[in-house]
Amino acid sequence: MQGFIPLPKYKISAVFSFSYNATNERLMDKKTNIGVIGVGHLGQHHTKHYSKIDGANLVGVFDLNQDRCKSVATRYDIKPYETLGELLEKTEAVSVVTPTKDHKKVAEECINKGKHVFIEKPITKTVAEAEVLIALAKERGTIIQVGHIERLNPALLPLDKFDINPKYIEVQRLAPYMSRGTDVPVVLDLMIHDIDLVLALVKSPIKEIGANGISIMTDSVDMANARIQFKNGAVANITSSRIAKDRVRKMKVFQQDLYITVDFLRSLTEVYRVMDADKTDPSAIMSAPLVSKERHRQIFYEKPTIKKQDALKMELENFIEAAQGKVKPIVDGTAGKKALDLALQIHNKILEDIQ
Ligand code: NAD
Repeated sequence: MQGFIPLPKYKISAVFSFSYNATNERLMDKKTNIGVIGVGHLGQHHTKHYSKIDGANLVGVFDLNQDRCKSVATRYDIKPYETLGELLEKTEAVSVVTPTKDHKKVAEECINKGKHVFIEKPITKTVAEAEVLIALAKERGTIIQVGHIERLNPALLPLDKFDINPKYIEVQRLAPYMSRGTDVPVVLDLMIHDIDLVLALVKSPIKEIGANGISIMTDSVDMANARIQFKNGAVANITSSRIAKDRVRKMKVFQQDLYITVDFLRSLTEVYRVMDADKTDPSAIMSAPLVSKERHRQIFYEKPTIKKQDALKMELENFIEAAQGKVKPIVDGTAGKKALDLALQIHNKILEDIQ
């Protein structure tokens, strides 16, 4: 069976406009003073990674819950700050990992003081809030990066080698019920990951959105389906649930002569390509040549080796490099706002459908 050409060191230029330097060489020369705001479930992981990233000098953490703040600071031998202002005096960049409802207020204070901000997804609660942050960051010359972590899922990285122009994308993201994250509807909690991916893959304005959903465990929407039609003819069908028995995260991308399936949880990517063939190639899965439009064609199957990588660590390394002016953030404030905008449009369609 034909194998993949070894991947470059995660150059994700074609699909995601981002280059990741896996060796960390370029991070060696300068350290950015960084802090973490909100050290709950995810903020603790930010803290752990910054403590190991060569280009980061982890200064300290701040959390309204001071017991948690002290406990995380002790674990990483850093300073627990009692106020956000004190932490900001010592840092050049921060991760904002508070609940979404506080992103705007917290990030605004940071950007106002000239700090680069990594904001966990979704960027803010409303598009208007995101616009305020983006305008302020432009004025202050600071970077906003948004934590749409799936862009760096190792199972997606092989897509860079293909010219991606999807006709149809099918995505499923199902998770068992957990109270964490239910402060926002499932579209803003889970579906927004896939919305961001779809927007990165389909580079066309949106023509029409159809959506429906159900509320089961919370007062909000727990299961949702959206069908997004793009002006270039592409269609994305996204299903998300936070009340499933088992976790599922799968994506299928169909386009002319290319079909890709990605299982994010199993780190499994499979590619089916149709190519012109002068003679029968034994490595094709359909070795009897097909005839299409008077051309002989064969179908090839490839399963790239997926290297285990921590997507959050890669994302934060990208942020440190972006703060140092060396690269662009993989997901900037504008991309975060676009994903939020579409997510809210989908959520509003669902609310119309429910009423
Ligand atoms: P969490 O509730 O576990 O932690 C939030 C922490 O922030 C708490 O410790 C809380 O005390 C603190 N906090 C609240 N308001 C604060 C403020 N104004 N200043 C300082 N600290 C404050 O929440 P979590 O699950 O870690 O989620 C945090 C953010 O990360 C949310 O925006 C969420 O959507 C996002 N998230 C992203 C992903 C992902 O896959 N990228 C996964 C989970 C959560």
